[in-house]
Amino acid sequence: MSELNRLTIAQARKGMAEGAFSSVELTQSCVDAMEARADLGAFITPTPEAALEAAAEADRKRAAGDEGALLGIPLGIKDLFCTEGVQTTAASRILEGFKPTYESTVTRNLLRDGAVFLGKLNLDEFAMGSSNTTSYYGNVVNPWQSSDKPNMQLVPGGSSGGSASAVAARLCLGATGTDTGGSIRQPAAFCGITGLKPTYGRCSRWGVVAFASSLDQAGPMARSVEDCGLMLGSMAGYDPMDTTSVDTPVPDYTAELGAGVKGLKIGIPQEYRVDGMPEEIEKLWMETAERLRAEGAEIVEISLPHTHAALPAYYIVAPAEASSNLARYDGVRYGFRSDAPEGLPEFSSLEEMYATTRGEGFGPEVQRRIMIGAYVLSAGFYDAYYNKARRVRTLIAQDFSRAFEQVDAILTPTTPSPAFGITEEPTGVEMYMNDVFTVPASMAGIPGISVPVGMSKDGLPLGVQLLGKPFEEVGLLRVAQAVETAADFTAAPQLMA
Ligand code: GLN
Repeated sequence: MSELNRLTIAQARKGMAEGAFSSVELTQSCVDAMEARADLGAFITPTPEAALEAAAEADRKRAAGDEGALLGIPLGIKDLFCTEGVQTTAASRILEGFKPTYESTVTRNLLRDGAVFLGKLNLDEFAMGSSNTTSYYGNVVNPWQSSDKPNMQLVPGGSSGGSASAVAARLCLGATGTDTGGSIRQPAAFCGITGLKPTYGRCSRWGVVAFASSLDQAGPMARSVEDCGLMLGSMAGYDPMDTTSVDTPVPDYTAELGAGVKGLKIGIPQEYRVDGMPEEIEKLWMETAERLRAEGAEIVEISLPHTHAALPAYYIVAPAEASSNLARYDGVRYGFRSDAPEGLPEFSSLEEMYATTRGEGFGPEVQRRIMIGAYVLSAGFYDAYYNKARRVRTLIAQDFSRAFEQVDAILTPTTPSPAFGITEEPTGVEMYMNDVFTVPASMAGIPGISVPVGMSKDGLPLGVQLLGKPFEEVGLLRVAQAVETAADFTAAPQLMA
């Protein structure tokens, strides 16, 4: 088996441009790796034949002089992006068999630039979760193992768990993810890869199955900061089909890479210390700050006073929007419909058909969120919950804008723990705590990136998060790359020979 699948996107671009190998060879190497690690459950719908055909087409285009930014690069696509003619499930039973008749804008942009799609990646159902255990199509396994309990299967994080696991296990060179409250950054941290949630409005949401529309944002997951910049350059852009898409030019996101952090101010928010956070996470966070200081950055203690309110407010806003977005799955328009009750030719009413289909088609976490959402939006409670949460959201955004008057970027841990065992999974509010550090940036709409910087005492990857000013991903990636270079994180999970 060739090891081309282990290259970064930047390396593969160079190799193909120099004629060292073809996209077909590179794609075949990913397809072999996907087959060898089918046990990870990373893909819901692998499309190896289509990928090899697309790779051959990319090679023909290159021979004819095409130089698309991602020409011939094999990527995985989170199964939340509609892909024309290819089943799109959002990891839900209710969308089983749904084949969109159109392509999402983000995936269309990637195809325009020559990317090769390997298939649709697993996730938490409707992107609700932090462990990829809520998927109707089975959980995803993290390719890393704890040295303490080597036989225990670990979660990859979520909701973009299939994306993170596939990138970490070298099944693809990069993957798309989506992040509503942390779904790119938290799984990236759990799997030792890099994941960027861009500014809200940077990538079009058109054709992305909606979870919470005011928070959802697509972004790249890859094995380097540079690769995230390359992918974002293709994914981003104004789209009139999405009314929240922002009409601002797409810069070269790799333009400032290598410029270092000399003279930049990096903020350390005092509120990002939570009870019970392992010492090793605090230590790595401070070590990362020290490394940046050694490179010439100024480290500034800052305060984001409403941080504690972000998670509770998120768990009002996100379910509220989800309950409204998910109303469309009624057994008529898409995918799955329940059978009529035993022995009866049909349902007694349309309502009964809706209720049975939704009861059988949605898993427990999705149903929980629909119920919470319907409750906080109900006439009697709207002001007490939803409107209050919206006001909290404004305060959180103000915290960040004030902080950015003082600093260029903010450094925090990405998660309060390393990856946990599938069978050790926390429940309820404890599970929601996974996103305590990622949710504030989502509520404020600002960009955030997770970069792997070290290992836990049990040999599991840990990440730090960098937050930046809206639409200043170029500068954010520059700081992230300085962190990446200083950390020199070269560890990888055990790969197939
Ligand atoms: N884990 C969070 C949730 O369950 C965030 C998910 C996401 O960002 N899509 O809502």
